[in-house]
This record gives sequence, structure tokens and C-alpha cells, in this order.
Amino acid sequence: MGKRIGALEAGGTKMVLAVGTEDGTILERESLPTTAPEQVVPQMAAWFAEREVDAVGIGAFGPTAVDPASPQYGHVLDTPKPGWRGYDFLGTMRAGCDVPMGYDTDVNVACLGEATFGCARGLDSVVYLTIGTGVGAGVMVGGRLLHGMLHPEAGHILLAPLPNDPGKSVCPFHPNCLEGLAAGPSIEARWGAKGVDLADRPEVWELEAEYLGQALCDYILCYSPQKIILGGGVMKQEQLFPLVREATVRYLAGYIKTPELEDLETYIVPNSLHENQGILGCIELGRRALEK
Ligand code: ADP
Ligand code: ZN
Repeated sequence: MGKRIGALEAGGTKMVLAVGTEDGTILERESLPTTAPEQVVPQMAAWFAEREVDAVGIGAFGPTAVDPASPQYGHVLDTPKPGWRGYDFLGTMRAGCDVPMGYDTDVNVACLGEATFGCARGLDSVVYLTIGTGVGAGVMVGGRLLHGMLHPEAGHILLAPLPNDPGKSVCPFHPNCLEGLAAGPSIEARWGAKGVDLADRPEVWELEAEYLGQALCDYILCYSPQKIILGGGVMKQEQLFPLVREATVRYLAGYIKTPELEDLETYIVPNSLHENQGILGCIELGRRALEK
């Protein structure tokens, strides 16, 4: 019989739970508000146990420990979210639902979803960038989701601020990081209106594309991805895509020459799974946990 895989996309405001099959079919889905962990986590474990899943894949908001060898594995780390700091997320899930579980960051699972079922299918080195309330990057290199010491925090790479930028970074840590200069709240602070209401202001998106172009240039130089996928609320401004492609190659300045960079419309692309990239990535993560 086909395996039933549980998927949990754990976000700062909501939890999305689903049951699916290994081929990426979603059978059932439910969403819960992210309340105190002592309340919501056991409830979610029971939800999966009742549905008799064979494995679960979890994509969690960061920072969180994703290295199975770490004593903190599966714990939420230094978050401002009330009650979640230090919480043993994976351990509590396992206590309530005793099946193999995969655990990674929300952006890494989104990357995995696209690499397994979406526009990056068949590729093994992919960057998935979400530009929303924050900026987060999921990175797959050689078929493996990148971890290391912690996990990439490539939303906070430092950029060269533009002299004509009328705003400033809203990141409390960095005066010139990508998230601080280009996430939704930064756009809103700089221009005094929400991104969705700035659609017909070209200067907004030209500046946004400069910062994204710098970031993508750096990701290309560091990770050598075969494709870069852009998602999140800000990227709903479709006019950004040609601007970002142009800025990225301009910042690369001809240093790298590959067929991919000759075909930018298939290299720097929107996400392709109708906002299901995270939940589908969780299914693949669960499938991999079962296989182990
Ligand atoms: P989150 O990052 O919280 O998961 P989103 O990816 O939807 O959620 O990002 C929310 C951010 O994206 C907000 O700052 C919002 O202003 C911005 N945003 C949402 N929709 C649009 C849009 N159509 N155009 C520009 N910005 C948008
Ligand atoms: Zn920052």
C-alpha cells in the first residue's frame, strides 16, 4: 500500500498540516494559528497520530537546529516568538506521534519542494528565496539541503546601499542587509505605503531590483545554483522579474559565462507550485526520513 506522509509547515503566524502521498498528492490539509507551543505542538502531533501517517516532514521557522548530531536538534533557537525560544519542537512531535520524522527550515523545505515537484525538478543545486515579511533563503547543493554550523541565513547578507535610496535598513541587527533593505516592511517604511499599493511607482521596484540583483549575484558566486526561484508576497509584483534579471547580470559584470545566464527567463523564475512548495517539500522530507 502507498505510504501516507504527514507534512507540517510551521510558520510564525500559522501552522499548515497536511497528509499526502509520496508522489506529492495532498489528501487533506488543515491550518491552525501559531499559539503557545505547549498548546499547539501536542495538538499537531495528535492530529498526525490519528491519521496514522507513516512519517512526517517538518519545515520550521528559524533559527532552529537542523543538524541531527547537535544536542539542540529540533529545538527552536533564538526567536522573539513568545514561549518558543529553546522549545523542543521535534522531540514533542515525536512524543505524540512515533514515526520517522524529517526536520528542516521552512525555506529549505520550500527549496526541496520545488526541486522535487516543481520548476527545479531534476536539478541538484537550487536557491529558493522568499521576500515577504522577512527574507529567507533555502539552499540545496549537490542534492542536499545546506546546513553546516546552523543553516544558511542568506536573507541577511550585507549589500552596498544605494546613494539614491531615500530609506534605510529596518533590520535591528544590520544597517545594510538584504532583509533590512528589501523585505516588505522595508519597502513600506521607505515609501510610506504597502508594496501592494506601490505597483505603479517604477522607482520602488527599480530600487528593489538593485538590492535583489546584488543578493542574487552573491548567491550565484557562492552557491553556483542551476536555478534561482523567487517567492513571497513582494514577488507578486511581477514587473520585478525582468528588473531583477537585468540587475543580477549587471552585478555579475560578465565574470561568469554559462548557458543558464544566457537564458535568464528560465534561470531566475517565480515559484511554480501555487504556494504549495513548502508543504510538498515537507512531504518529500518525510518520505526521505522513512527511506532512512
Ligand atoms: P510572510 O513573509 O509573512 O509569510 P508574505 O510572503 O505574504 O508573508 O509577505 C508579506 C509581505 O509582503 C508584507 O510586507 C506585504 O506588504 C508584502 N506583500 C504582500 N503582497 C504584496 C504584493 N502584492 N505586492 C507587494 N508586496 C506585497
Ligand atoms: Zn539583517
